[in-house]
Amino acid sequence: MGEITGHPFYSCRNCRNPVALHDDLLSKKYKARSGQAYMFAHAMNIVVGAKEDKQLMTGYYTIAKVFCSKCGEEKGWTYVRAFDAREKFKEGRYILEKALILKEY
Ligand SMILES: [Zn+2]
Repeated sequence: MGEITGHPFYSCRNCRNPVALHDDLLSKKYKARSGQAYMFAHAMNIVVGAKEDKQLMTGYYTIAKVFCSKCGEEKGWTYVRAFDAREKFKEGRYILEKALILKEY
């Protein structure tokens, strides 16, 4: 379990493992299979899966799924590489699905 340095934060909805700080929230306008998803500058207590190349709505990316380090549930993905120069700002960012995380105060 990671040390919490800021509030509010977001935790795994399944096991309450803290996965991201509200201070690191960049955008709420992302979409995932489950619906709305949030972009974070950093995530914590997660395990990054194998890289895969994927065609998304905004272009072609190398992404890696991210999983909760405690319960192993899939939480979203991280952008490893964006092929489109306009999307490079996403590299190293994390997308966490709103339906799979919980805001904690
Ligand atoms: Zn979990």
